[in-house]
Amino acid sequence: MVHHNYSNISDLSHPSAIPTIIHSDKKNKQMTTDKTAKQKTGIFNKMTFPVRIKIKQITGIFLALQLTLDLCHAEDPVRRPKNIILMIGDGMGIAQIQAAMTVNKNKLNIERCTHSGFSKTHSASDYITDSGAGGTAIATGQKTKNQSIAVDTNGRPLTTILEIAEMEGKATGLVATSSIVHATPASFIAHVNNRNNYEEIALAFIKTDIDVFIGGGIRFFSSRKDKRNLIDELKTKGYTITYTISAADSVKNGKLACLTAQEHNPSIIEDRGNYLPMATATAIRLLNQNPTGFFLMVEGSQIDWGGHEKNQKKVITETLDFDRAVGIALDFAEADSNTLVIITADHETGGMSIVDGNIKKGTVQTRFALNDHTGVMVPVFTYGPGAELFSAIYENTEIFEKMLLLQSKIK
Ligand code: MG
Ligand code: ZN
Repeated sequence: MVHHNYSNISDLSHPSAIPTIIHSDKKNKQMTTDKTAKQKTGIFNKMTFPVRIKIKQITGIFLALQLTLDLCHAEDPVRRPKNIILMIGDGMGIAQIQAAMTVNKNKLNIERCTHSGFSKTHSASDYITDSGAGGTAIATGQKTKNQSIAVDTNGRPLTTILEIAEMEGKATGLVATSSIVHATPASFIAHVNNRNNYEEIALAFIKTDIDVFIGGGIRFFSSRKDKRNLIDELKTKGYTITYTISAADSVKNGKLACLTAQEHNPSIIEDRGNYLPMATATAIRLLNQNPTGFFLMVEGSQIDWGGHEKNQKKVITETLDFDRAVGIALDFAEADSNTLVIITADHETGGMSIVDGNIKKGTVQTRFALNDHTGVMVPVFTYGPGAELFSAIYENTEIFEKMLLLQSKIK
């Protein structure tokens, strides 16, 4: 395992993250600890301290977000992290984790987490979610229709946790093993009705002030129907562009767009190598230069594809790769002690089960019930300040609510 030195915090000043376009149509949404709000937002039932969150819209297109959290009379105060690293194993249910753990001689980095819970994954339109609605629920706190990307059931844009982090002056990043405009990463930055509108999703990376993004998808930036070259536009906006993860490793500071494939990166079986752990380390190293903190989403995108293919080897190798990236994030969080790491999935894929195994030999025998997503709850593992809030069974939308409470400013 490569060891990265995170103590080398440079003096990069993060550009002011005052937003120019905020995607929200919420009208003076106000949540308090009164009874009405408690009924609406399940998280408040579980909080052990008084909480007040106020979200205010100033004009139709400009939203100022004022979040306050009153910890004055806390009996059991929850410590709030400076940074949040959200890691999504697409299609990663319990069996995928167990299979990878067995092959790895009964040990995973995920086990270093101190708390765990379960997320209920159904979407607004379907008992079985897709990655668009699943990602949107986690990114925005709202259930939506399958295929939707950070828009509500009427197609109206929903503010994402990444956009809120930007508004609060934090650095933000997205990392995926798929194309960076694929449904899961897209749910944190784009607002489109159809997840397949990849060229439209790519435009979101021009409109926002995301600091680091690493994934495939070159062609959606540079070979477009509208003839725009978004890679040139990113350069103009001050991004360093790299096309390999090793080139990204030598970027010292500033904004980074690392696009490593025309569409998706290869799988581990096809020799993707150390890409995801390296991308995770690079993103953390660059984002951590912002003194206000950062929000980073890292996706192990292809665990899901192994499930769709009923391909045990693919599921296990992709889950082990994801777990190596989890190890990088947890190494940082342990040293930093001010970072919350959340590891979860958008849904399970394959109805995978384990029918036999041998820990000593590191072998496992699995079965798949189908070649699609299933409706079972998925695990949530957490480490760091606020980790204890995730020990329960809740809707996937509550992952957003908990992140929002923990990420946003104390009054
Ligand atoms: Mg995905
Ligand atoms: Zn899928």
